[in-house]
Amino acid sequence: MSQFHSTVSRRDFMKGLGIAGIGVGAAAAISPKFHDIDELMSTSAKHNLPWYVKEVDNPTVEIDWTILDYSKPFTAYKSPTEISAKISASRAQRRKDGILQNMDRSSQRLLAISDSLRDRDLGSSYDWRGWDVDKSGHSPTAIGVPKFEGTPEENYRTLASASHYFGSPHLGVVQIDANIKKLMGDSIKTYADIDQATSDRTTLPNKCKWLITQMVVQNHQADKFAGGVDESGPNKGYPGTAHHAAGFMAYFDGAILQHRLQTYIKALGYQALSAGPLNVPAGILAGMTEESRATMGISPEYGLGLRKMNTLITDMPLAVTKPIDAGLMRFCQTCKICSEACPSSAQSMETEPFWEPVCGNREGSKKWHINWKNCIDFGAPQDCGLCHTNCPANAINSAAASIHKTVGAVMSTTSVFNGFFASMDRLFGYERPLSEDTWWNRDLTTYKRDVILGVSTQ
Ligand code: SF4
Ligand code: SF4
Repeated sequence: MSQFHSTVSRRDFMKGLGIAGIGVGAAAAISPKFHDIDELMSTSAKHNLPWYVKEVDNPTVEIDWTILDYSKPFTAYKSPTEISAKISASRAQRRKDGILQNMDRSSQRLLAISDSLRDRDLGSSYDWRGWDVDKSGHSPTAIGVPKFEGTPEENYRTLASASHYFGSPHLGVVQIDANIKKLMGDSIKTYADIDQATSDRTTLPNKCKWLITQMVVQNHQADKFAGGVDESGPNKGYPGTAHHAAGFMAYFDGAILQHRLQTYIKALGYQALSAGPLNVPAGILAGMTEESRATMGISPEYGLGLRKMNTLITDMPLAVTKPIDAGLMRFCQTCKICSEACPSSAQSMETEPFWEPVCGNREGSKKWHINWKNCIDFGAPQDCGLCHTNCPANAINSAAASIHKTVGAVMSTTSVFNGFFASMDRLFGYERPLSEDTWWNRDLTTYKRDVILGVSTQ
């Protein structure tokens, strides 16, 4: 039933976006097709995405499910021993020289932060790769009560709300059909009419029909240490040697987030099994992200500033979330900032995505394939990540939010201004690197802390 029926004129709407003065042709091209606020409200995705993000039936990246199959033999690229030994020796030398010369973004006190986050040896219960968690003492059976039962929509809302409380901004769900089984094919081989999944991770009960994706973001400001390469000194040509800090922190956060959600689902009386690193495809199919030129999932709110998607398989009946179109993959066609930033020419400069897999990629999707040989032989991920940190979409949720949210709204409806937006970013350099000094002297009373595992970080 209608709640508002306040008609918004096209001119008022565009005035709100700050683009009312443009020509009629361009205006018609970019004006969203909303007739009134009721229609706009009804477009909101189940998970709390920005209002301008459209839910769609198929993801914006084309997938050929007759080809894509993770159970097919596949070997990821690995540098030959002599190259990886050279990379390690160079990394150690640059790290030492950076400390001795007190280089900005490579200082001893910053590297120590990075190292303290690298240490994940806090107990196996935080292992995000854990197939299952043993919480039998908390189960409804142990307490002597029935399991929690809600409609699929209530169950989804329950998990999304709990997961948000634990520290993840978004939760997505896809139904495990024949296609999703192909995605999980490298670990789960068979499905059977059994009650519980086997502990060796090979057989899943048929009743486990839902794949949950839990978004893990990372600190945007800390990420900005890696926004560019050093132009001189021992680290010339590389980002600061402590640029991993944000990533390490987010991996650790992700482990905790997954463990909490697994434990929660089990306490409600259902199975919650780690589906492993499905990461990018799971995020895209569940409507958290689109495919990006940099091959990572790109989010309307966080850009590439995500660390990973935790994935869980469950028998708890859940409403599904649909893929999204926020205009991000279209924006990547024009933008190419990550490819320009790539020091090893691993990233494609092609405007259109393509089917042919380049070294180290699986076949079956039409995307911009990274040449993993170039990337890994350069020393990535430890020595790079520039594609990740230079993306202008990362700033959408940052201090420049009001500008970028308007850009996001326009991008979602038209590609007419994409070239202009990318040029603006090159000009203003929203993702230029922060100096280390800025971070050490940040205002500790106003700077958001990371205690809630990423949701409030900037
Ligand atoms: S991480 Fe790899 S693909 Fe990305 S910019 Fe660095 S070398 Fe290029
Ligand atoms: S830098 Fe530009 S092209 Fe690359 S992922 Fe971000 S938006 Fe897409």
